[in-house]
Amino acid sequence: MEKFDVVIIGAGPSGSVSASLLKKQGLNVCVLEKQHFPRFVIGESLLPYCMDILAEAELVEAVNAEKTFQFKNGAAFTWGNRYTYFDFTDKFTPGPGTTYQVRRGIFDKILIDETAKKGVTVRFGHEVLALDNQGEQAILAVKTEQGETYQVAARFVLDASGYGRVLPRLMDLETPSHLPARIAHFTHIDDNITDPDFDRNKILITTHPVHRDVWLWLIPFADNRCSIGVVGLPETLAGESEVVLKQFALEAPMLKRILANANWENEFPYRNIQGYSANVKALHGRHFALLGNAAEFLDPVFSSGVTIALHSARLASGLVVRQLNGETVDWQAEFVKPLMVGVNAFRTYVMGWYDTSFQDVIYARNPQPEIRQMISSILAGYAWDETNPFIAKSEARLSALAELCGTATQD
Ligand code: FAD
Repeated sequence: MEKFDVVIIGAGPSGSVSASLLKKQGLNVCVLEKQHFPRFVIGESLLPYCMDILAEAELVEAVNAEKTFQFKNGAAFTWGNRYTYFDFTDKFTPGPGTTYQVRRGIFDKILIDETAKKGVTVRFGHEVLALDNQGEQAILAVKTEQGETYQVAARFVLDASGYGRVLPRLMDLETPSHLPARIAHFTHIDDNITDPDFDRNKILITTHPVHRDVWLWLIPFADNRCSIGVVGLPETLAGESEVVLKQFALEAPMLKRILANANWENEFPYRNIQGYSANVKALHGRHFALLGNAAEFLDPVFSSGVTIALHSARLASGLVVRQLNGETVDWQAEFVKPLMVGVNAFRTYVMGWYDTSFQDVIYARNPQPEIRQMISSILAGYAWDETNPFIAKSEARLSALAELCGTATQD
C-alpha cells in the first residue's frame, strides 16, 4: 500500500495551502480531489488577511499575477439611501490591507497547480470514501472516476473537503448549526456599471429596504462582470432563483440605479444553495483534523469562509509537522481553542448582522475613527488579533457599541 506522511482530502484553498505549508517543511504529501479543476464553487470575495497566509505558503505571487482578479480594498454597505464603507487599509491590526475578488474556479486551480509544482502529489477524479483510523496509521479508501478502488496509508489526514464534509459524515461528527438555515440565490451578470458612486474595488453589501435580515452581495470582477446574490430565510426567498434574485435586487435603491444597464441574460446559470451553515462535535480525532468548511461554516455575509479555511490550514499544518516529528500536540488547546477565537468573533458579528445590532453600528452616522479601525480589522479578516477589544470580548463590546450608536435609519 502507498504511504504518505499526510493525505489531504480536497483541493480547495484549505487543501492547497495546508499541502504547500507541509511540503515546505519536508513532508511527503498527497491531495485527493474528487472533481477536475477548474470547478465552480461559491465564495468569490477574499479578505486581506488571506494574503498573509498565501505568502507564507509561497502561493501569493501566482495569485498576484492573475489579471482577471479584481483588486479589493474594502467593503461598502448600502441600505435605502444610506451608503458607507470600510477601507481595509485603514485598520487596527497590521498586515495586508488589500486583496482580490476572484472566480473561484480560476483561483482554486492556481493554488493547487502551484502546490503540485512544489512536489505535492495531486490526484483529480479520486474520491475519498472511508477512513480507518484505528491502527498505527490512517487508511483511506479511495475510488477513481474509472470506478477502481484502492487504499492509501497516511500518518495524518487533513479533511479539506469543504461542503463534502467527508470526515464529519464518516466519523459521525456532524451537529446542527446555531444559525437558522438560510438560502442564497446567485449568478454572474454583465453589470455594465458606469455610475461614479460605485467603487469597483469594494464588495457591495446591500441591506434589503423592507426585510432587514435579507441582504445582497455584489462582487465585481475585473471584466465588467460581477457575482450577485441574495441571502435570506427560505420562506422569504421562495421561488425560482432568477425571479427572486432580480426582484430583491431591483427593490434596493442603489442596486436598481447602478444595475440599470446590466445584462441579466447570460450563459452563467442562476443557482441556489441552502442550509450551508454547518457545525461539528469535534475538529480533530485520532490521526485527523478538519479544515475550513469541512469543520464549520458560519455565514457568507462578511466573506469570512476562505479566510477561516486558510487560518485553519496554517494552524493545523504547524501542529501536524510537530506531531510527525515526535512531539506531543494538544489539539484541543493548540488548534481548536485558538481557531475558535476568530470563528467566535465572526459569529458575534454575523449574529449581530441578523439581529441588526451590527447593522446599527455599520450604518451609524458619526462613528469614532478608532472604533471604525477596529471593526475594519475584523472585516479585513484579522479576527484572531486578541489585542483588538472587539475580538477579545466581542459580544459585550458589540452590544455596548450598538447601544451607543442607537437604531440606524435608511433615510
Ligand atoms: P472547498 O473550496 O469547498 O473545497 C473542497 C474540495 O473538496 C472540493 O473541490 C471538493 O470537490 C472536494 N471534495 C469533496 N468531497 C470529496 C471527497 N469525498 N474526496 C475528495 N475530494 C472531495 N467565502 C469567502 O471567503 N468569500 C465569499 O465571498 C464567500 N461567499 C459565500 C457565499 C455563499 C452563498 C456561501 C454558501 C459560501 C460563501 N463563502 C465565501 C464560503 C466559501 O464557499 C467556503 O468557505 C470555501 O470555499 C471553503 O474552502 P475549503 O477549502 O474549505 O473547501
